[in-house]
Amino acid sequence: MSHLHTGSCLCGAVKFELEGEFKKFFLCHCSRCRKTSGSAHCASLFAPGAALRWLSGEDKIRFYRHEETHFARTFCSLCGSNVPTDAKARGLVAVPAGCLDTDVDIKPQAHIFMDSKGNWDESLVDVPAFDGMPS
Ligand SMILES: [Zn+2]
Ligand SMILES: [Zn+2]
Repeated sequence: MSHLHTGSCLCGAVKFELEGEFKKFFLCHCSRCRKTSGSAHCASLFAPGAALRWLSGEDKIRFYRHEETHFARTFCSLCGSNVPTDAKARGLVAVPAGCLDTDVDIKPQAHIFMDSKGNWDESLVDVPAFDGMPS
């Protein structure tokens, strides 16, 4: 069964649609994901055999591949948002969950590379939560 997902970058220049199904959903705490996200972890969805179509802004997209690894990022050159990477050699599309404008139909399955997590990335569910900026 195939699903149509859509997404965009923060500035709106880059828009895409993805036809396929998410099979894996990992929260990756490795040092590369921490660097590119500026946060505790990336939230990456993987859709094997999916078809990625750029609806706008394809000329604004930049691609970065970390030397001698499979680690790659596709991002909007105007606003820096991560957008999907079409990993054709691996037969899948990797989608940063945060760039989707449609609901995700699977839940995160695992935290991975916990041995490289930041020293402040500990029991985050216990941190006080607010609906907006606390006064
Ligand atoms: Zn953008
Ligand atoms: Zn990672």
